Amino acid sequence: MAGTFTFTIIKPGAVTNEHIGPILNEINKGGFHISAMKMIKLRTTQAQNFYAIHKEKAFYDALIKFMTSGPIVVAILEKENAVEEYRKLIGSTDPAKAEEGTIRKLFAQSMQQNAVHGSDSDCNAAIESTFFFSKSERFSIFDRREF
Ligand code: GDP
Repeated sequence: MAGTFTFTIIKPGAVTNEHIGPILNEINKGGFHISAMKMIKLRTTQAQNFYAIHKEKAFYDALIKFMTSGPIVVAILEKENAVEEYRKLIGSTDPAKAEEGTIRKLFAQSMQQNAVHGSDSDCNAAIESTFFFSKSERFSIFDRREF
């Protein structure tokens, strides 16, 4: 069975451009419930750990620099089949290829500054959510209990 939550980051460029509110609006319009949320600034080691899978890529250093360049908003989002549904809502990694109406089409500036992150599997949604939130900071929409 598909999972009921995913993890997202509103990236530095989108925060700087005052897109937090409009992006959260798209998230709510898409039928997602916000189960956890906070604004933070990543330390370099945190960003390196979060993007460790891309360590060998040419864009890795630039990605780390960008992701630590300013505050971000991290959140856990709940919906049936959340990972797949949210990937659909945000669109392709490259905003030039993102479908009309998707969050990246609306708010991304470039491949690197592509407005938001969304988990790519239920397993990563769980890992990434735990990376940023303790149990007492997460509240399931289904009964507003910790989960
Ligand atoms: P995502 O799951 O759609 O965010 O994509 P990936 O996990 O493949 O990549 C992580 C992040 O690295 C993306 O959101 C982009 O910000 C960045 N990225 C990925 N591919 C490239 C690339 O070819 N060039 C640059 N500059 N950044 C990239």
